[in-house]
Amino acid sequence: MTHDYSRGKTKRLAASFCPFCFTVLDAASGLGHENYPQPGDFTICIKCAGVLRFREDMSIEPSSLESIPTHSRMKFAQMVTHVKAFIEYLQREKSSPKS
Ligand SMILES: [Zn+2]
Repeated sequence: MTHDYSRGKTKRLAASFCPFCFTVLDAASGLGHENYPQPGDFTICIKCAGVLRFREDMSIEPSSLESIPTHSRMKFAQMVTHVKAFIEYLQREKSSPKS
């Protein structure tokens, strides 16, 4: 089975706070070329890698890997790992001295 990890369409959202790190989130991208984020979808905070879920009105609520259906939990866990690595990379870039 292959997964399409390419970034899909970005949807502008009403600004809301990540319940874990309080970063303002106002957009989300789906996975796959034609995928918009939908109500009920899970998402990942780009600042803290917290697992979130869209409500019907596309505001976000805290969630967890354990809440994700088992058939897609592994794929999502891998994405969380990628986001964490990306966050760490950005932090290293920010803290490294400029040459
Ligand atoms: Zn966050």
